[in-house]
Amino acid sequence: MRQWRLLDTGSRTAAENMALDEVLLTARSQGRAPDTLRFLQFNPPCVLVGFHQVVEQEVRLEYCRREGIEVNRRITGGGALFWDTNQLGWEVITTLDYPGVSRRLEQLYAQLCGAVARALQRLGVPAAYRPRNDIEVRGRKISGTGGTELGGAFLYQGTLLIDFDVETMLRALRIPTEKLKTKEINSLKERVTCLKWELGRVPPQATIKQAIAEEFSREFNMELTPGGLTPAEEALLARRLPYFRSGEWINAVQGPEGRAELRSGRRTRGGFLRSSLVLGPGNRRIESLYLTGDFFAHPRRSIYDLEARLKGLPADPVLIRRQVEEFFRDSGARLPGIKPAEVAAAINDALVKKDYPRQGIPAAAVNDVFTVVKPLEEITAAPVVLLPYCAKLPTCRFRGRQGCSECGRCDIGTAYALARQYGLEPLTIQNYEMLARVLRRLQREGAPGFLGSCCEAFLAKHRRDLERIGLPGILLDIDSSTCYELGQERAAHAGRFENQTTLKLDLLELLMARVAPGKARRQVAVAAHA
Ligand code: SF4
Repeated sequence: MRQWRLLDTGSRTAAENMALDEVLLTARSQGRAPDTLRFLQFNPPCVLVGFHQVVEQEVRLEYCRREGIEVNRRITGGGALFWDTNQLGWEVITTLDYPGVSRRLEQLYAQLCGAVARALQRLGVPAAYRPRNDIEVRGRKISGTGGTELGGAFLYQGTLLIDFDVETMLRALRIPTEKLKTKEINSLKERVTCLKWELGRVPPQATIKQAIAEEFSREFNMELTPGGLTPAEEALLARRLPYFRSGEWINAVQGPEGRAELRSGRRTRGGFLRSSLVLGPGNRRIESLYLTGDFFAHPRRSIYDLEARLKGLPADPVLIRRQVEEFFRDSGARLPGIKPAEVAAAINDALVKKDYPRQGIPAAAVNDVFTVVKPLEEITAAPVVLLPYCAKLPTCRFRGRQGCSECGRCDIGTAYALARQYGLEPLTIQNYEMLARVLRRLQREGAPGFLGSCCEAFLAKHRRDLERIGLPGILLDIDSSTCYELGQERAAHAGRFENQTTLKLDLLELLMARVAPGKARRQVAVAAHA
């Protein structure tokens, strides 16, 4: 039977734990450390962003500073996580050629998560593996996981929620919590769970660790012996720790700060992929490109290599797509759940915005405007303005249905009045199914396009559906926290989202003027010059 080390590094700071991840993986890849199962905890609490994420986009830094919550970066991909002192981390560090380890990523996830799920079952919790990389209990997540590889070795890690402080998590991560009500916090509690909520008590730590250790022993047919860091690992840790404490590491992924940036985001099976692009003089070449998000990349550096490969390239969508596809083919890099064509599409979604100012969109607003099916310059007419029901006052009698009496108590009233002025029909959209019905009807009637307002997350989720329907459209982002940011898509879908969003009325009016029927447009133009 193979021998593994059982390494319990206890409660440590975020920087120590992150440095240890790198040290353990490096040492294993160099054959200077044994296969290892590690348990880890954090003290003080911390937020850890995924390797490809931008700290400012994910973390409420001011709140974390005030509350003594550390911020650091993982060496693995995935989304930002809040770790309080009640969570237990587990990690497997071994080699890709270890007997019985699956070479296919999704099977590997299933294998590792399955072992932890079985350990939880032994504790009395009906846990199960949920693809791609979660462990859930009756649909609620109890452990998120992720991994990375280095030189033939891999590290796969997971969090196990033992007890969970939802309120602090919501305040530490970039979710606009000023508006969160108890009801909304409860809705998040419906999506996650922890051992304490499941069992009504917290089992002793030793019992939890023992159950996990035994299941991994069985899974990998090995025997665990408690051990500490090797001298080589200690030396490497001492050398690497200052770097993991530094801003250079924590802010290693940056957006193009202070420069005119073109942004877009796409939801894919492998996670959210955000593309931020800065073009050089005359918009002719790519000056810099950042691909960030909660995805995984193998090897990790492949994203940087891709960004470097595209830098300096002419700003041409066909060329970009070809280069992206060649890069993945030549390098063997993998972004699980994301196709090269989707990476190219995310970059090109941002690239098309370079032409928006010529189309009358203020440069500062180009990232608030999206199109589907056709580029902006080809969408010049639409008979309707589609408005989200969540912008209506929560207590309004029209909140759950069509119409508005234009009482002036929310942005919808102004939008309805503007639509009438421009000769457009305003419609309130309750959910995606209704939107799809309206778009199909418009298409049957021969409408040239549509104008609408929705949040970027809704568009990211339904972009492909809208493209399938095929009616060209201009969509305008909305202000304030949306159901997606608050994790309430399901409540919103059922018409139970209780927040109120606001519309970007100036931009909406500008776009109404663009698509309004000719006569109304001329009247507006005359009025504007009067
Ligand atoms: S403006 Fe319209 S939607 Fe808003 S509160 Fe008044 S009636 Fe309701």
